Amino acid sequence: MHIASLSSSSTCGNAYVVWENSKRPLLIDCGLSITRIVSGLKDLGMVPQDLAGIFITHEHSDHVRAMCLKTPFPQKFRIPVYASQGFWDWYYTFQRSHIDDELVYCVKDGQDTRIAGYTVQSFLKPHDAREPMGFKVNGSSASAAFVMDLGYVPPKIENLLMGTEYLVFEANHDVTMELNSGRPKFLLDRIMGTYGHLSNEEAGKSLQRMVTETTKRIILAHLSVDCNSPDKAIAVVTEKIEESGFAPEVTVAPPGALRQYGAK
Ligand SMILES: [Zn+2]
Ligand SMILES: [Zn+2]
Repeated sequence: MHIASLSSSSTCGNAYVVWENSKRPLLIDCGLSITRIVSGLKDLGMVPQDLAGIFITHEHSDHVRAMCLKTPFPQKFRIPVYASQGFWDWYYTFQRSHIDDELVYCVKDGQDTRIAGYTVQSFLKPHDAREPMGFKVNGSSASAAFVMDLGYVPPKIENLLMGTEYLVFEANHDVTMELNSGRPKFLLDRIMGTYGHLSNEEAGKSLQRMVTETTKRIILAHLSVDCNSPDKAIAVVTEKIEESGFAPEVTVAPPGALRQYGAK
């Protein structure tokens, strides 16, 4: 199973591509301009029409920029788009975009969606958005989960993702850097609260409980540009995971740049 991050951050936007050899790719989130998505796909040797579907995690702009245009990305390239009812309620209330009905699909907590030879499991996550979802893409050779923008990891999610081969997982901030950032209290409360974002420490503790001998790679995602660093995130998470006795590769998804991760 291959994964590519086109960009991963709240300031630069989020979009991830996942695919298996001889199957069409899926896109998780489209929080970049259409131009940047198209050029990222081109660097992977793909065109937008190759995508079998787009899965949207939630309505925050760093995840949906290309949805919030008069002619959104899925409409322009005729790609089916999957999101929660809460997301679609928000979309049709606040956006003046048009997407043809036959391209719009609703996913529920615990639902399995069969698409292009994959089964995509949707699960609710705690975040300050309308029915925000995480996704686990099950292919024939492996599974990859996309879990970012959540304030804590409920046991239900840890159980679902136990032993997943590839985990794209949020490690948003270093708590000390966040507290010393000079940001206003309401923002700190939001980021560090139960409906905000995971710190390196929180990500590490949760990953420690989820890794097994089948876990191949952890890709730390949605790192804060101001309040985290790749070295810090990798060091904290690796130290926690070592306590589990397993040693999957731990790497990061950089903000604003493409990074491709081959199958292991
Ligand atoms: Zn985000
Ligand atoms: Zn968010």
